[in-house]
Amino acid sequence: MNYPKSDVIVHMDIQLKELEARREAVIKSVQLGCNHEELGECDYLNQDWLGSMPPMRICLHCGMSEDGWSWYVLHGEANKVGRLNYDQKIPIRKMDRDDLYRARRGLSIRDAHKGPIARREVTLAQLIEADGDLKKLGIEEEKD
Ligand SMILES: [Zn+2]
Repeated sequence: MNYPKSDVIVHMDIQLKELEARREAVIKSVQLGCNHEELGECDYLNQDWLGSMPPMRICLHCGMSEDGWSWYVLHGEANKVGRLNYDQKIPIRKMDRDDLYRARRGLSIRDAHKGPIARREVTLAQLIEADGDLKKLGIEEEKD
């Protein structure tokens, strides 16, 4: 038995779950078509003896994020994945790390994704569809 039993609360819980599922589908759809042409970036974070966290970028239009010391996706148009395109003039706004975290939605591109993207084992569309889970795509994550 699930609690609380109140019909009103249960009904609203169901509506919220449906709305969240619709939002996830919309985020995937927007990210699939986005050219990522307006980017935000926060600097790396030095954590002394804990090491450092790499810089992070976000597309301010669709919320896709990427972290690391080089950029595979958020450096230009989505359809140029795997081909670094330094010529493109994409405006990059400096952001506070917390603001960037709050703005993230959908796919977050991590180091483990970059090898398979570069080797063309996986497309960005497949990554978006699989919520970034390489195991769903039959690919083992790489260990550092
Ligand atoms: Zn985007």
